[in-house]
Amino acid sequence: MAYVKVKRRKLTFAERTYVAPIAKGMVTTLKHMLQLGGTERVTMEYPEQKWKLPDRYRGAPVLVKDAAGREKCVSCSMCEYVCPPRAISIIPGEIDGPVEKAPKVFDIDMLRCIFCGYCEEVCPEEAIFMSEEYELCGQTRAEMVFPKDKLYAMGEKFGRDGRTKDPVKKYDRLVSEAAAQGLDLTK
Ligand code: SF4
Ligand code: SF4
Repeated sequence: MAYVKVKRRKLTFAERTYVAPIAKGMVTTLKHMLQLGGTERVTMEYPEQKWKLPDRYRGAPVLVKDAAGREKCVSCSMCEYVCPPRAISIIPGEIDGPVEKAPKVFDIDMLRCIFCGYCEEVCPEEAIFMSEEYELCGQTRAEMVFPKDKLYAMGEKFGRDGRTKDPVKKYDRLVSEAAAQGLDLTK
């Protein structure tokens, strides 16, 4: 087996004390601290200071209601079916009125969620959206399973582009269309 012998340059006395490189580093640090010579501060004091998120940032999924404050989710379970890490658990509620079927239980395990946005894509009711929320914390695993009340509260907080406050009143429209055909769906 052949070996290659590397000849190393002998360090000078000044190099061996490391005084010059340390001084050079300190000058750079001071320049940044005092923002001299066009240097910019690149650190921020989180959590007091926050990032400005891009418009299409995809944070935690949240649930939203319609303009009349009714749950838009109809427990179709498509989001539950499509969710890759199986983070969503839904127990459908009873059918209430003509067509409403809000979920009895709607949990998202945020420890499983990978913020992929499939649930938002697949939802036929525009009931679930990706929010700007990225600060998710809890002391136990159970705390990280967000129930529907919490998901709705988050939806209120992170209404995006007016989508969560849209004026669509789908059920009202169905009821009036049925009424025009002589049917009363409210009974
Ligand atoms: S964002 Fe993706 S992983 Fe998270 S709940 Fe929706 S489908 Fe599941
Ligand atoms: S959030 Fe949308 S996709 Fe999921 S169960 Fe409700 S209506 Fe269906």
